[in-house]
Amino acid sequence: MKEIPVYLFVDALGWEIVKKYNFLKDELPFRHPVKMQFGYSSTAIPTILSGEHPNKHNHFSFFYYDPINSPFKIFRFLKYFFGAGLHPRCILNRGRVRRYVSKLFSKLKGYTGYFQLYQVPYDKLCYFDYCEKEDIFAKNGLPPLKNLRDILEDSGLRFLISDWRKPESYNMDEAEETLLNEQIDFVFIYTAQFDSFLHDHVSDYQTVAEKLNFYESRLKSLFAHLKKNEISVKFTIVSDHGMTPLKGTVDLMKFVEELGLDFAKDYAAVYDSTMARFWYLNSDAKQKIKNRLSDPDCSGSFLSEEEKISYGIDFTNNKFGEDIFLTKVGIQIAPCDLGRKPLNGMHGFSPEDKDSTACFLSTHAPSFIPLEVKDYFHLMKKDIDSLSLKSKTNTII
Ligand SMILES: [Zn+2]
Repeated sequence: MKEIPVYLFVDALGWEIVKKYNFLKDELPFRHPVKMQFGYSSTAIPTILSGEHPNKHNHFSFFYYDPINSPFKIFRFLKYFFGAGLHPRCILNRGRVRRYVSKLFSKLKGYTGYFQLYQVPYDKLCYFDYCEKEDIFAKNGLPPLKNLRDILEDSGLRFLISDWRKPESYNMDEAEETLLNEQIDFVFIYTAQFDSFLHDHVSDYQTVAEKLNFYESRLKSLFAHLKKNEISVKFTIVSDHGMTPLKGTVDLMKFVEELGLDFAKDYAAVYDSTMARFWYLNSDAKQKIKNRLSDPDCSGSFLSEEEKISYGIDFTNNKFGEDIFLTKVGIQIAPCDLGRKPLNGMHGFSPEDKDSTACFLSTHAPSFIPLEVKDYFHLMKKDIDSLSLKSKTNTII
């Protein structure tokens, strides 16, 4: 009987949580821990969609220093409107307003990718560019690499890749309906709500158990409907990382500001939740920043060149930072450019941290055991290649 490969992506479904709660243990008996791609979902998802490390697809953290090509120069003028937006407590910096401004800006610029200004100060935006302006799931979404959609279109198979803009309940229902109609050869379902849920509730055992029960029931109902209709699937859940409970915070922005250096004259920096990325505009600034951040109260360390190479984040021209400072496991940078306050859980720590480990769960043994998240692409490609070969052979017969 034909088995339809179905891949369900669940953002932040970490290996530790899967083990702790025995998530779908009987239904998905082939289970493997998978090493996280260093960085956030902004780099993990392009890695999954292309099978290549970030140094090949050029997506890492959203913001990078590029004052010449910055699309945000317009925000420089906000300060002339009575200093609007300069103070963190200004209404223009409230989360909801920021999301609205992001939406409006993205629409005006014609961006199709996931776009958020987060909490990057308006007066600093003009020094940065943004890496996900285009929809990475779309055709030619990760040039010059072929992404999942490109290889599926080339294969001639009938496929569904769910819309990342839609709620996950819609994506699950759409996938079920498509599978029941049997008009499909390959399905990739995208869900992301578990990530935001875990950022808030990672340490709340009962609430997490209830949420996972909800997912289990939804999937068991899908499996039952498929069985009743004699539709056979090879069902696999993949994730990009886990979630690490908050252990403490560090105010790196303050430490660097206390050095008396001028932003954009001496250095530029982006403070993500777990890493601070620096571009040095003179050697004095480099020395001062490196010295200060080497103190133990900074709770972290700079990545070595060897580590950058091993994570596949050694970018040409150090596009995403000459130096990347990573905090210790569980320590969040607060405030940071992604948010003013720490969250109960965070990811983006060392890929060696056990709570960061992603998972692969399947009804079937994989054709090879995935070791890191980029391997998912190659597993999917093997399924696609073998299906398209079969359909070609059938046509010839
Ligand atoms: Zn997240």
